[in-house]
Amino acid sequence: LDPEEFRRQGHKIVNFLADYYQNIEQYPVCSQVNPGYLQKIVPNSAPNNPESLEKILKDVERDIIPGLTHWQSPNFFAYFPSSGSTAGFLGEMLSVGFNVVGFNWISSPAATELESIVMDWFGKLLNLPNCFLFASGGGGVLQGTTCEAMLCTIVAARDQMLRKISRENFGKLVVYASDQTHFSLKKAAHIAGIDPGNFRVIPTTKASEYTLCPKSLRLAILNDLKEGNVPLFLCATIGTTSTTSVDPLRSLCEIAKEFGIWVHVDAAYAGSACICPEFQVFLDGVENANSFSLNAHKWFFSTLDCCCLWVKDPSALTNALSINPECLRNKATELNQVIDYKDWQIALSRRFRALKLWLVLRSYGVINLRNLIRSHVNMAKHFEGLIAMDKRFEIFVPRKFAMVCFRISPLVLRQVSTKFDDEKEVNMFNTRLVESINSCGKLYLTHGVVGGTYIIRFAIGASLTHYRHVDIAWKVIQDHANALLNQGYV
Ligand code: PLP
Repeated sequence: LDPEEFRRQGHKIVNFLADYYQNIEQYPVCSQVNPGYLQKIVPNSAPNNPESLEKILKDVERDIIPGLTHWQSPNFFAYFPSSGSTAGFLGEMLSVGFNVVGFNWISSPAATELESIVMDWFGKLLNLPNCFLFASGGGGVLQGTTCEAMLCTIVAARDQMLRKISRENFGKLVVYASDQTHFSLKKAAHIAGIDPGNFRVIPTTKASEYTLCPKSLRLAILNDLKEGNVPLFLCATIGTTSTTSVDPLRSLCEIAKEFGIWVHVDAAYAGSACICPEFQVFLDGVENANSFSLNAHKWFFSTLDCCCLWVKDPSALTNALSINPECLRNKATELNQVIDYKDWQIALSRRFRALKLWLVLRSYGVINLRNLIRSHVNMAKHFEGLIAMDKRFEIFVPRKFAMVCFRISPLVLRQVSTKFDDEKEVNMFNTRLVESINSCGKLYLTHGVVGGTYIIRFAIGASLTHYRHVDIAWKVIQDHANALLNQGYV
């Protein structure tokens, strides 16, 4: 590692990326390559001799960029955003540049200490109850993804419960979710060894805006108790993936508390909005949950990966996840003076993720961060207004954050052809619309299916998106709808 060469090449990479961002709008947002495209153009084996960065960057431009879907494009409205930012990128650079492996405090004290400080800062910003902060016995940790946070909390809840009821009852443990809970929970429960037959999926309805119904939860729990099962874990969601629905936390937590169930609150996308006081109402009742997580890499301007997990009782995590081999023995740990974050996560090794969150919080400041979130929400409101003016479209569920769910109205389609009396045909038409829009490359959006209905999701949150991009996107959507409506698909 030659510092001077690093400086020279590092500048080149920064320039390359700055040019990429300057030109990002020229690329088709969703990559248009075919599977296996890269195999056909790169050599079969690694080079024997060194190649220059200049040559490699040329290949990145020619071979790699066409195979990228441009998540940072201002015309990216798919999935949920992965909001990049200068502060997030630079924080990541610092972290990668130091390349420390902070598994326990002594392995890099600043990595641990900054993480707990930043998690308290962020927790306060979200107005999380004190019980989730270090000062009051709780605390936060940075993990890679929500799936990992779910797995760690299920394992913590599982081991806590098994200590009470003994391990032979493992097969009786039950996990509760709704049909809108992110599928990661199922994977986490599976890895944690929960019997697949004990993963309860509670159906939601359009009438209740796809939220988890407390009454149905209670019935499911009572049914399990009757069967001799042991209710263990509930995942409530603030901002579901398909429609950004918000589960009624207070009622759900009260029921869970009554039956000694661990509640994890998954706010992967929408949690970041709760830095704005007007969204904090969605966290009402969170004081009765056991854990809460959000992905700062979705809507908090921090690069992937950055899942923030807060727990009320860190010992539940550490009792389940601690391993202390001889090679990691050190005084600070033995004197119980420090946090060893390896005991709060799956892996031993861990990145210095706190740096990017610290840079984001400091470089923007709370006022600007709130304004950025609000600007996305306001653009989504604007988009919703555009849809409302075109009677061929319908908004599928009320918008809560910066995502709008809509589709071509079945009523309009039925006026054109009776075949649209069949809901499947309505879904097919909307599927074609999304495929047609995405293949033009001008924007990228994705869909969801809720209660059998295909919906189009328009999620705003890319840092480069402005009103003009939303207006152009709407025009593209209308043009493709016009073309399909006039093209014999009906
Ligand atoms: N939970 C919700 C509500 C999500 O929307 C997502 C992803 O979009 C996840 C969990 C999964 O997050 P991760 O990829 O970090 O595991």
